[in-house]
Amino acid sequence: MESTRERSIWAWGWRDKFPDEAARRGLAQMVQIMVPGVKPAPRALPAEPDVPSSTLAVPDALASFASQAPRDRASHARGRAFPDLVAGFAGDYAAAPDVVVRPRDADEVARVLDVCATNNWAAVPFGGGTSVVGGVDSKLARGNRGAVVSLDLSALVGVREVDATSRLARIGAGTLGPALEAELETHGLTLRHYPQSFEFSTLGGWLATRAGGHYATGPTRIDELAHAVSLVTPRGSLETHRHPGSGAGPEPQRWIIGSEGALGVITEAWMRVVPRPRWRASASVAFKQFEAGVSAARALA
Ligand SMILES: Cc1cc2nc3c(=O)[nH]c(=O)nc-3n(C[C@H](O)[C@H](O)[C@H](O)COP(=O)(O)OP(=O)(O)OC[C@H]3O[C@@H](n4cnc5c(N)ncnc54)[C@H](O)[C@@H]3O)c2cc1C
Repeated sequence: MESTRERSIWAWGWRDKFPDEAARRGLAQMVQIMVPGVKPAPRALPAEPDVPSSTLAVPDALASFASQAPRDRASHARGRAFPDLVAGFAGDYAAAPDVVVRPRDADEVARVLDVCATNNWAAVPFGGGTSVVGGVDSKLARGNRGAVVSLDLSALVGVREVDATSRLARIGAGTLGPALEAELETHGLTLRHYPQSFEFSTLGGWLATRAGGHYATGPTRIDELAHAVSLVTPRGSLETHRHPGSGAGPEPQRWIIGSEGALGVITEAWMRVVPRPRWRASASVAFKQFEAGVSAARALA
């Protein structure tokens, strides 16, 4: 499910929801109160973000799926932690990656890693870019390397196969939360993983960060929902086993989930899915003491 709606370069949400000048002035005042010493000054925004020109000549091997457009480079410069928002608000894109690539299959992912290894360039896997720990920060990735390549997974999307008997679905790593659930719904299924960043984060990002969702009284961490993972590394590809269960040796998937892109690029995964609930009801309960609420949550779990 492709969306043509454009995201904000730096803020949470959509470009067409960008705050007007009065709202931006209010936000600047709030930031000054919350982060002493920081003085973001709202200014007229240029039509295109101000990114430094890159001397990198995109190799032919990557050219058909690469972009050096200022907007692309700026929107892949960093994640969505509060300091990221402050820097984006100030229009600071000095550390933007040199190029953004959007490989269309696992072979193209391998090609990107190969080119990066040969040239001593940093490759930064980029899912939804909602990291709050600097995971997609191109300044941190650059170090002493000659260039930073943001490896955007947005072309590896969709629910590709459903095994209704085993309740498994093979899903592209770049699939955003809403598209993933919308596609599973057509099969009467759900992954039931809802981090608060659901709208703008991806399956690959959830796996790479070992994300936790709502529904904490049931299976909620992404590692509990992952069945098998495909990974492209600079030294070859790896597909973890799709057996119903195995006790043979260490489980390689455990190394991959939570590795923050350091071991390779997750291209797709078989995920455990469940039938969508047929009825839904909610109620509010007030407890007189905090401990009583905790006990009730434990009893429900
Ligand atoms: C408002 C807000 C709410 C949030 N709520 C939650 C929450 O409820 N629970 C929670 O756990 N987290 C939460 N987060 C943090 C963040 O959303 C999660 O870490 C999320 O899993 C990141 O997914 P992403 O697709 O945006 O990944 P990105 O931010 O793009 O990447 C995160 C890290 O994973 C790597 N990576 C991404 N895709 C791949 C891939 N395919 N292969 C290999 N490496 C990859 C990146 O290089 C980076 O290191 C929240 C963040 C925000 C801003």
